[in-house]
This record gives sequence, structure tokens and C-alpha cells, in this order.
Amino acid sequence: MTKLELLANLIYPNLRETLDDLEKKYPKRNLDEQAMVTRFAPSPTGFLHTGSLFASLISWRLAKQTNGVFFCRLEDTDTKREIAGTGDLVLNELSIFGINPDESFIAGGAYGPYRQSERKELYDTIIKELIIRGRAYPCFCSHDTLNQMREYQESIKVNPGYYGEYATCRKLSVDEMIEKIKNGESFVMRFKSMGHHDNKITIHDEIRGTLELTQNDQDIVIMKGDGLPTYHFAHLVDDHFMRTTHITRGEEWMPSLPIHIELFEAMDWVKPYYAHLPVIMKLEDGRKRKLSKRKDPEAAVSFFLEAGYPIEGIMEYLMTIANSNFEEWRLNNLTANIYDFNLSFDKMTLDGALFDLEKVQSISKERLGAMSSDEIGQKALAWAIKYQPDFAKAINQDFYYFKAILSIERGGEKPRKDYTRYSDIFPIIDFMYDEYFDKALNVELPFNPIFTKEQKIIVLEKFLSNPALDLDEESWFNNLKQLGNEIGFAPNAKEYKKNKEAFLGHIGDFAEIIRISISGRKNTPNFYHVLRILGLERIKNRIIKTVKTF
Ligand code: GLU
Repeated sequence: MTKLELLANLIYPNLRETLDDLEKKYPKRNLDEQAMVTRFAPSPTGFLHTGSLFASLISWRLAKQTNGVFFCRLEDTDTKREIAGTGDLVLNELSIFGINPDESFIAGGAYGPYRQSERKELYDTIIKELIIRGRAYPCFCSHDTLNQMREYQESIKVNPGYYGEYATCRKLSVDEMIEKIKNGESFVMRFKSMGHHDNKITIHDEIRGTLELTQNDQDIVIMKGDGLPTYHFAHLVDDHFMRTTHITRGEEWMPSLPIHIELFEAMDWVKPYYAHLPVIMKLEDGRKRKLSKRKDPEAAVSFFLEAGYPIEGIMEYLMTIANSNFEEWRLNNLTANIYDFNLSFDKMTLDGALFDLEKVQSISKERLGAMSSDEIGQKALAWAIKYQPDFAKAINQDFYYFKAILSIERGGEKPRKDYTRYSDIFPIIDFMYDEYFDKALNVELPFNPIFTKEQKIIVLEKFLSNPALDLDEESWFNNLKQLGNEIGFAPNAKEYKKNKEAFLGHIGDFAEIIRISISGRKNTPNFYHVLRILGLERIKNRIIKTVKTF
């Protein structure tokens, strides 16, 4: 046995599997040549960030488009930052947006476990291998020693870090290492870099093309004092054994690429393709800045869910910032499913994708406008159950009634687009429910003060003498004009203006008195349809109640 093997066995005496065993246990996936294996690897440190939803959408679509696999791995090795339960929360939120991984830390899969905290033995096996290859070693330096070293490096203006001549423990003999371990000294494991910061390496990024970066020379920590791996090393092991083909991750990881390349090379493993996604930016005072978890409520996807934005609107919006040719495609494919669009790396924006809430709103409005009344009804109900129980209660009294309300001016060539979010619906239609109409009577109704109580009563009686709700809309309106005319209202504003003295008002005034008396408000969705849905019985009851308030 070589000395390095002795050291490796001393540090990892009881591993059940070898590198070969692992290679066999997690074989190359049996997929077509072009199939992509992508992943989303959240850390359980909070809610699902809008940027993470964006990244997941891209990774998921690329896998689906190529008949590949999209999986979700929980990167839970930073126990200090972990917030219990947030891993599951993130996956639930993803699923609300329709993204369901093929394999995950909840659903499992053949390449698991998918929680890093349950993969310790895999990491240990690879570190053991690296020790034997002379590419990993224990480091016994204390925090104080490291701090002093950094201060010294700053004072003499050299690159900070643990490398070359500053990598003290790298210079220990294997015997010395063994002795220190036997003496119970605590240690972390470091990677032994062969690079030098004067050298450049070229790396291909799927989005950014060829990058020239400084070679890694840092002996980075691969296993911390708590026995858990660091991100860099876990990424190597996990993406190798999970057989990821394309690493799609935020651009904040781009500077670490040289480390990852060197790690893959040290293991003689095939490197995955890398695609560093743009960070989502926001425009503030004419300047671009990163969407911030602390400052921007829209940084959390829960913001959109609570506010009632339709999932379809958010996802479509994210597609527009993912690929520059999406919007043109949309114009040519107005009714197509957004996932018929083929996302590609080469149409991705290089600089930060700009987040534009107004655009999310206009797209959401389009999407809600294009839904059938059944679809918007079901989705609004599901939203209301969670976020607006009063609304849900009203809907649940009679779903068909709700659907009828939503069908007002829906469909056809030019559907009305009244709603941007599910939360917009209730304030516009709540008067259709008697209990909310009754509430409106508690405050003064917005009648035009030029009309007396008696005049209003005459208007309402006239209307009730022939409400004609069985006529088509045009005939009904002509009838309404006729009724108004019979008691002194001009059939249109123009005629009224020509000879104000001759009239009480015009048809608009006549209709407004009726509208307010029946709905409690000046503006409603198309009044003809409102009246037909309410039905004559309800209309009469409401008018009686309104007249009592005069
Ligand atoms: N856990 C890392 C993060 O949340 C994942 C980065 C990656 O996708 O590799 O940033």
C-alpha cells in the first residue's frame, strides 16, 4: 500500500463502494444522442426566487424539447443558511408553475439520492480517490492562521488565497499528515491545484461562446470541517453521477468555472456543457440593477401568486425574456401553446434580462382575455380559495352563475380585457351577488344630483314597465331609448345638446339611473348582459331596495 493509500484509508476507513462501483451504479443515461439532461439545484434558504423560476423554465424546456431529463437536486450542505422546509416549498412552487421534474428530492429517481446531505458517502469516495491520485490533502490551518495569511497577502499586494507557496499544508509530508490526524487535529480537505494564475484557459459557454479565463490555482476546500462538501466539489460529483449533460446556472457561477474544469480534469471525467444564464435585472431610475431579494417584492414568485397573476402570463413573460425571437413567434402563432416554441441557447440575451412588471401585466391581460369562461372561472376559484375566501364563497354559491358573469363579452373577435389578475375580478363583479349589492346601499349611491327622487322613480317604473330582456342586445337598447324618450329623455347626447330645454336629460342619464339602482355603481360590465344574468326577479328586488334609500 502506498503512503497516499494509507492516508486515504485513515481518513475514510469504512466506505462501502469504490469509484468503479459508482460508475456502474450510475451509468450513462440511456437517451438519444441529442437529449439534454438538465437540472435545477436550489439551496433550501427561502422562497422560490423569480430568477430561479426563470432558470428552471429554461432547463426544463431544454430537457423536454430534446426528450431528455430534467431533475431537481437539493443543495443542502450549508447547514448554517438552511431554513427548514424551504426545499419542499420551492418544489411545490415550481409545480404550481407547471414545472414537474422527472426526478427530484421528493419524487426520487434512479440517480439519487437527490439531497446532498444524503450523498456524503459518494463525496467521500471521490475524495478518497483524489487523495490516492495526489490531488487532495488534509489542511489543518486554523481560521486565525488563514486570516493572518490573508492580511499578509494584502499587505504585500499578492492574490489572496490558499495556493502555491501559501498552501502551507500542501507542503507537509504524508507521514506528517498521518501523524496530525492520529493526534486528533481537526482538518478540512483541500483540492491540490496544478494551475497558475498567469495562465489563461479557454472554455466554451453555450450562451456566451468562447471565454478566456484565468486558470485556477487555488487549493479550494472540497470538504468542510463538518464533513460536508463545498458547492464546487459537490457539483463535480453530483453532475457527474447524475449524468447531467448541460449545466444551466446563474452567471454568478461563471468566475468559478476554472475551478470546476480543473476538478473534472483531475478525475478524468467528461465535462458537461455549461450555460451561464443571465441574471434578471430591473430598471430603476434609468439604471439596470439585479432584482433584489430584499428590495423587490417581485423577486419572489409568491408575489405573483398572491397578487393573482395567471401562471400563463408569468410563464409567457419569462419566455419573452429568455429568447429574443419568442415575441415574433408569438405574433405568428397567436393561439399556440407557448411550449410549442423551441427555446435555444443562441437566442438568449447576454446581458441581464430586464424584468418589466408592466409587460407581465399586459401579457397577463391578454392571457386572461383569451381564456374560456370555464377556464378563467376554475382558475379564479382556485386562486380565491387560497387568497380571497370571501370571493371563493360567493363563487361557490353557484359556479354556473359565476361563469355566466365571466362570459360577458368573452370570446369572439375582440374579447374584452378587463382583468390583469384574478384579484381584479371580484371588485368588478361583486355587485352581482346580493350581499355585496346590499353593502353598496349602505353608502350614498352615485346618482346625478340633478334628478329628483320622483324623477328617478319615474325612470325605474318606466324601465320595469318593459325591461324586454328577451330581445337581442340591439333591439333591447332601442327599446330602452324608446322608454326614455316617452318620459322626456333625448335618444342621444347630440339631440339633447341641440335643445336642452326640451328634455330631462338623454338616454345616458336614463340608463345611468337604472344601472346605479340595480348595481349600486356607475360602471359595470355590459349592462344588457348584466341584466339578463341577474334576471327580472332579482332586478325588481334590487330596485325596491334602492327606492327605499331615496
Ligand atoms: N445551489 C446553487 C445555487 O443555488 C446551484 C447552482 C447550480 O445550479 O449549480 O446557486
